[in-house]
Parts: sequence; structure tokens; C-alpha cells
Amino acid sequence: MENSLVMAGVGENAHKRETICILGTGDFGRSLGMRMLKSGYPVVFGSRYPKDSTLLPSGAQVFHHADALKKSKIIFLAVHRENYDFVPALSDLLDGKVLVDVSNNLRMNQYPESNAQYLSQLVPKANVVKGFNTVSAWALQSGNLDASSQVFVCGDDNKSKQLVMDVARSIGLTPLDQGSLLAAEELENYPLQLFPMWRLPLTIAAGLTVFFFLYCVVIDVIYPYVEKNSDVSYRLAISVPNRIFPNVSLILLGLVYLPGVIAAFIQLYRGTKYKRFPDWLDRWMLCRKQLGLVALAYAFLHVLYTFIIPTRFSVRWRWMHSIIEESKENKTMELNKLKSWRVDLYFALGMLGFGLYVLLGITSLPSVSNVVNWREFRFVQSKLGHVTLLLCTAHAAVFGWDRFLESKWYKWGLPQAYMLGMVIPCIVLVLKLILITPCVDRMITRIRQGWEIKPKNKEAPVCINNASLI
Ligand code: NAP
Repeated sequence: MENSLVMAGVGENAHKRETICILGTGDFGRSLGMRMLKSGYPVVFGSRYPKDSTLLPSGAQVFHHADALKKSKIIFLAVHRENYDFVPALSDLLDGKVLVDVSNNLRMNQYPESNAQYLSQLVPKANVVKGFNTVSAWALQSGNLDASSQVFVCGDDNKSKQLVMDVARSIGLTPLDQGSLLAAEELENYPLQLFPMWRLPLTIAAGLTVFFFLYCVVIDVIYPYVEKNSDVSYRLAISVPNRIFPNVSLILLGLVYLPGVIAAFIQLYRGTKYKRFPDWLDRWMLCRKQLGLVALAYAFLHVLYTFIIPTRFSVRWRWMHSIIEESKENKTMELNKLKSWRVDLYFALGMLGFGLYVLLGITSLPSVSNVVNWREFRFVQSKLGHVTLLLCTAHAAVFGWDRFLESKWYKWGLPQAYMLGMVIPCIVLVLKLILITPCVDRMITRIRQGWEIKPKNKEAPVCINNASLI
């Protein structure tokens, strides 16, 4: 213990575990060290200034880099890439040892090669493993690892990778093997991503919300003001949002199922499933779950806003007004049975659609989708999903009823918002109807089972080397 500073005694069961060396006594190094100590690992820190390292967790030892390295076969490098210059000097001491690169960058693809590959070039004798970079120092220290307990690990030496995965497991993390060190670039970009799958759905939802808001303001607020000198600006609080939410929700639900039918038609056209879909379609299909969940959120808001309609002052005033008018004229309005049917049907379709909507949302949760098999999942998400779309579209159609035939509903020639909201869902439903007709369905099923339309003039194989001429 020549120049070492012993911070405190090593834990009782520490002897059972391999000593872990951590180079760097910053936030991450200290938090990782604390976690390791709690799990029974003896921990030695390597630091430029061991004498100044006063914040280390109790139970850890601290040495100069070279002395710390001698004590362990597994070394975590908790230093930023910009400061890796000191590592090549330790090359001989790192010979055959496992060196874990935990570093992250400030920007995606900041360097031509990943930090782990760069480190591997600096010390080719060490077995570099990338890992732990997706876990935060805070999570390690607080023990709050529920949300971020997955540790992605990659490296070229399988044995070293297994060792690091074992360490991860024994400190309560869930290691996931990501393959060779080539995957390090992806792992380093991962913590820099900000809701990548949600960006497109949220952008579409925001765009549609703004569009419908402006559209409804023109039709429901500005039009009465200009044409009838009637100030109904109070509609901005409840009526206008309650037109936006159902329409955006319905369009988003349509957008969940549109890429599936487009993909089916592409496969039918090409006569094969062995060709890549265009990138835009791939990206669209990958974010269907998020599109569906945003659609469900809008549907929830529509339900809430609809519930409070009878308590609105303007609605109660209109009811009272009509009763007073009837009393003044001394007549009683007869029950309009058609209207009763229409309203009941409208609510029934809406409630059924919403119930299935919620079911789709629940089955998309990992905890639920993990306990159903692929066929059950497809049944709910595809079959029941299309039924949901049908019910919700019918709900909107019954709301509109025959209004689309009457010119008075086209204010300044503009169709009602619900008509716009139904365009995409109707397209999806019509295309789906074509796809489920027996002859088309048979064809698409065969293609999905691997059958291909044979090209008419199949070209002879091209000889690319002398061997193929023989
Ligand atoms: P930090 O608090 O700045 O600590 C970095 C440590 O590196 C310093 O304490 C220092 O330790 C050492 N160091 C600084 N300059 C050096 C130099 N020129 N030469 C040699 N060593 C030097 O950073 P950190 O937050 O702990 O992050 C460390 C690494 O973990 C980074 O690569 C980071 O991307 C990664 N990481 C961090 C987190 C996090 O939540 N913080 C999460 C995942 C990954 P000594 O003074 O003891 O030498």
C-alpha cells in the first residue's frame, strides 16, 4: 500500500467478488463505485490526484492509475474521450485485461469512429468492451434503476463481454448483448436521442391540431360574426377543442392503419415480399404504436369534453330558451324519433369505438403484449383495430348524418370539420375492404408465405468470375 490512501475498510463479503478498478473519480466513477461496493465488489479507483480524492464512497481505495490497474482484471474507464491521452502509457498494464468504455458524446456521430473503437486503437492489447453508458450516475447512486436498468454491452472478445455482463447483472442491471464493438457507435448515440419514435406522431398531431383549430375558428366563430354579427367567441374554450380532438384522433387512427394497407398493395404490385419497402414507409410503420397512443389521448380528451356539455351555461340557456318559447306559443314539440335514433346511435358507436380504442392502447403496453402470443396480438391490433376504425368513422358519419347534402352547412363553401376528419379513415377502410375480398386476400396471403410472381424474362445469371464459367 505504498502510496495508496485507504478510505475505509472493505465490505464483509467483498472477498467473494473480483476487484473492480475504476479510472476517474468523477460523478460517474464515484456512483458506479458506490453501486459496486454495495453489491460486494472491492473497488479501487485510479486517479491523477489520489491524495485529493476525498469524495469517494467509503470502502473504496484510491491509487495512481498504474497502481490501481495492477489490482484488477476488469477496469472501467470513467473519463471523457477527450482525456484518453493518458491511456496508451498504461498499455502494458492493460495487456489481456477487460477495459470497459462507458463514455458518451455531446453530439450524435461526433467523431469518425466510436469512442470504444478509438480506445481499442489506443490500447490494442486490452479487450475493450462498450457498456454502461446508457445508465446515469444519478440512477446508479439513488438505486432508482427501474426505468433505466438495461445495460447494452458490445465487444469483440466474448469472454470479456460475458464478464462485464455478469458484473452488470450482479449490481441489479439487465445486460443486453449488442454484438461486436462495431455496435458501439449506435450505443453512444442512444442516450442522445430524444423520443425518436414520438417525433413524427407528435409533429403530425401538432400540425393537425393547428390546422383544425384555425379551420374551426373560421367556420364556427368568424363566420357567424361576419355573416350574422353574432359574437360566439366563447366557443373557443369548449366547442372548438371538442371538434379538434375527435377529428385529429380519427385521422391519427387512420394513419395507424394506412401504412399497412399501402404495404399490402406494394407487395401485390411487386408480386413479392422479398423487396424492401421505401424508407418513408418503413419509418411510418415503426411509429404506428406511438401514433395510436397519441390518437387515444385525443380520444380521451374528446370523451371528457363531451361529458361536460350538458353543464355548459350556453347549452342550458338554449334548452331553457326553447322551453320558454314553447310555453309562450302554448305548444309541445313532439318527440323526433329519427333524431332520437340518430343521437343514440351516435353515442353507442362512440362508446363502443372508445372501448375498443382503450383495449388497443392497453394491449400495446409491453407488460400486456409480452403475455399474448403473436397471433393474439395481431388479432387485437389488426382485426379489432380496423373494427375500431370502422366504429369511430361510423360515429363521425352519424354525427354528420345528412348534413353533407345541405348547402347551409358549407360555410363560405367550406365542408364541416368532421367531413375532413373522415377522409383518411374512409380511404383506409375502402382499401382494406379491397384487400379482404377473397381473391385479393388469397393472393396477398400467398405472397406473405413466400410465393413470388416469376419475372417474364428471367435473365441468365451473370458470370462474375472464372470459376462460374466452369
Ligand atoms: P466527470 O465528473 O467530469 O469526471 C471525469 C473524471 O475524469 C474526472 O473526475 C477525472 O478524475 C478524470 N479526468 C479528467 N480530466 C482528465 C485527464 N486530462 N486525464 C485523465 N483523467 C482525467 O465526468 P463523469 O460524469 O464522471 O463522466 C465520466 C465518463 O462517464 C464520461 O465518458 C461520460 O460520458 C460517461 N458517462 C457519464 C454518465 C453520467 O451520468 N455522468 C452516464 C453515462 C456515462 P481524476 O481527477 O480522478 O483523475
